[in-house]
Amino acid sequence: MVTQYKNLINGEMVATGEWLDVVNPANEQVIGQVPACGQDELDRAVAAARAAFKTWKNTSFEERNAACMAISGAIKENAEELYRLLTSEQGKPHEQAKGEIYGAAGMSAAQATLKLEEEIVQDDDTRLHRSRRVPVGVVGGIVPWNFPVMMAVQKIIPALMSGCTIVLKPSPFTPLTTLRLAELIADKVPAGTVNIITGEDSLGPLITQHPDIDKITFTGSTATGKKIMEGASADLKRITLELGGNDASIVLPDADPKKVAEQLFWSSFSNAGQICVAAKRVYIHEDIYDELSEAIVEYAKTVKVGDGSQQGTGVGPIQNKKQYERVLELIEDAKDKGYKFLTGGNVDPSGTGYYVPITILDNPPEDARIVAEEQFGPVMPLMKFSTEDEVIQRANNSDYGLAGAVWTANPDKGVEIAEQLETGTVWVNEYLHLSPFAPFGGHKQSGFGAEYGKEGLKEFTYPQVITVKKDNVPA
Ligand code: NAD
Repeated sequence: MVTQYKNLINGEMVATGEWLDVVNPANEQVIGQVPACGQDELDRAVAAARAAFKTWKNTSFEERNAACMAISGAIKENAEELYRLLTSEQGKPHEQAKGEIYGAAGMSAAQATLKLEEEIVQDDDTRLHRSRRVPVGVVGGIVPWNFPVMMAVQKIIPALMSGCTIVLKPSPFTPLTTLRLAELIADKVPAGTVNIITGEDSLGPLITQHPDIDKITFTGSTATGKKIMEGASADLKRITLELGGNDASIVLPDADPKKVAEQLFWSSFSNAGQICVAAKRVYIHEDIYDELSEAIVEYAKTVKVGDGSQQGTGVGPIQNKKQYERVLELIEDAKDKGYKFLTGGNVDPSGTGYYVPITILDNPPEDARIVAEEQFGPVMPLMKFSTEDEVIQRANNSDYGLAGAVWTANPDKGVEIAEQLETGTVWVNEYLHLSPFAPFGGHKQSGFGAEYGKEGLKEFTYPQVITVKKDNVPA
């Protein structure tokens, strides 16, 4: 019998009568079951969060920090168990799963130091005018399947640090590691402050529309983000949306192909390309296009695609069947249109596990579906450009605006181009690095609001201004 993972409601690990299967994408075996929650369980979790909020909102910075550090500590102390479980449900290779687990512990500890100080706006003979931040209340957190643990703590920690309580819903595809973490922290945080419940996608709208939830913090696709914004409008819930992206990497002619080939490869293929900020369009200057594309393909030949739990695997399977079929559809479309593949392109859907070979395309047109749409798979279209103005225009020609990168021997030139990109984050000569102290969020249809840093924390609060008139001011 497979292991059943319970939910965390009001400090207790609980189950419902119904269970959902969770599948390992490397072999399509059922590896666990989780409760299939509906309105009743959600109501219980929200009631627990509401009751806990009465006390939690008045806690000190030290109390909040201690709870968050306990979560960080639980992740670190159980890292080995957690990263192995993460690989089995998500598919990413062990090294990358380890990176997510230790990253989640580190990001939690760093964000647990964030504090929103009150501001004295005016203090003179007439009045004392204070601006402070107060918690919004009960938060509904909804997360995707690509970085389930990182995304979970990215919601839980700022909620707790701001004085809010939370009901979190993992993706039905990857709930196991999050529920194991729930078990590990159940007696480390006050009952009701953190509740974690699982269910089908249909549980999402129930959270968005719940009258006793004050804010939604969501990471996932732009399509779902739009539904959430719509659902949250009924009672004007506060929202933070971290959505999809179609990030461009721009490689200038002075970049050294030998130096950047490997990094460029991983900027597209880490987590099998299933990263919101993966490089999904790579623009290479025509002067170095041939040399660099050859170097990337040569490097690609050294990377093994396979089961993430096996040593030496660099690229694991796609996380779920639906996404696998979508990536195959984009590859088939590229083949039908006659675009040239430097490697990959042939997938055998009859095998077990959702494997897609490393797929690199040679200069497909800008309007190819595989370029214009977010692939979210191990696919890297390489494209040639001639001038800076042209490449900036092409990079910005997207409804998305999440992140991007510039690769060059001249960092000042890199910054000059970075400042012209319409995205929330731009890296010069690196990729995927996020700071817990800098706001991370998308421009255009990649998001609404931000996470991380004080700006991210503020999104869990309302401003409140208290003005005290001094005695000597006439009424
Ligand atoms: P998704 O939108 O399908 O699902 C995300 C979550 O929303 C899941 O928990 C799902 O159960 C829930 N959900 C589904 N329908 C819902 C509804 N109508 N109302 C409320 N909740 C609902 O996304 P996904 O396929 O799990 O994740 C992939 C997407 O996430 C990609 O587009 C990727 O770019 C994006 N993403 C963005 C970031 C970021 O920080 N910007 C990070 C990771 C992933």
